[in-house]
Amino acid sequence: MTRYADLHIHTFYSDGTDSPEEVVRQAKAKRLSCIAISDHDTLDAIEPILPVAADAGIEVLTGIELSTEHEGKDVHILGYCFDHHNEGFIARIREFQQARLERIKDILDKLKGHGIDNITLEEIQAMTKSDSLGRPHVAKKLIEKGWVRDNREAFERYLAEDGLAYVAKFRQTPREAIELLHAAGGVAVMAHPMVTKKDQIIPELVEAGLDGLEVFYPNFSQSVIMYYKTIAEKYQLLMTGGSDAHGKAKTNTSIGKKKIPYELVEKIKQAAQKRQGPQAGV
Ligand code: AMP
Ligand code: ZN
Ligand code: FE
Ligand code: FE
Repeated sequence: MTRYADLHIHTFYSDGTDSPEEVVRQAKAKRLSCIAISDHDTLDAIEPILPVAADAGIEVLTGIELSTEHEGKDVHILGYCFDHHNEGFIARIREFQQARLERIKDILDKLKGHGIDNITLEEIQAMTKSDSLGRPHVAKKLIEKGWVRDNREAFERYLAEDGLAYVAKFRQTPREAIELLHAAGGVAVMAHPMVTKKDQIIPELVEAGLDGLEVFYPNFSQSVIMYYKTIAEKYQLLMTGGSDAHGKAKTNTSIGKKKIPYELVEKIKQAAQKRQGPQAGV
């Protein structure tokens, strides 16, 4: 029987709504053998999910989705199979969370400047179990309080790069994220290239040490997936994939909606082991 993995899942430690228990319950229902939590700029879900997944007989790869910026546009870099106890890595992630917190304060200030004065930082903080606060949290409050009709309007009017309350995140280049992941013994993967639409930077990311491309992603046609498969083959990149499930925060996907055969996971693990050297444990 072919075994499958979903390597792109968010929890309530960033902007998803599922607990680690809920993630494992759904992964089990979808008969997945292996999962990775890829929360935005936080490692907080990893320790809580390990015992729950072990009980269910599901393997967990360490994972994260790092925010980076290239010429003013968001580029997400996924990391896998790193040492989540690496002190340098943890320290840097703490900085990201602090920067996210400060940024949300700035966004709320800007919203106040536009008459939106009834969203508090405490309310936003109550939406996640960590300090990995993001624009989707603010969008949800804007909808709840009737300032906008839906998520799309929240981003178009206020939160997108050209929105009224836009605040840039901490500046990190894709190259810095790749180096950070390598220093922690992990592999670096360009997330959802079909969403990011910056294929022209793939050669320079490869040159910077990029290990993989997220070829398998939900809601795109087979021809788009084949296109990115060809690019991955051209640059000898690992192929990864997953659902990008966010629980109830994203309705067009769910755990297991996109899954990859376990052979691709083996390749990811082998690549990480090579980076870690012969002495390192798995
Ligand atoms: P942040 O991490 O705070 O920069 O928020 C990034 C997240 O916001 C992304 O992962 C998307 O889920 C969401 N997002 C970004 N841009 C848009 C957009 N134009 N419309 C809807 N959601 C968006
Ligand atoms: Zn997200
Ligand atoms: Fe992403
Ligand atoms: Fe994601």
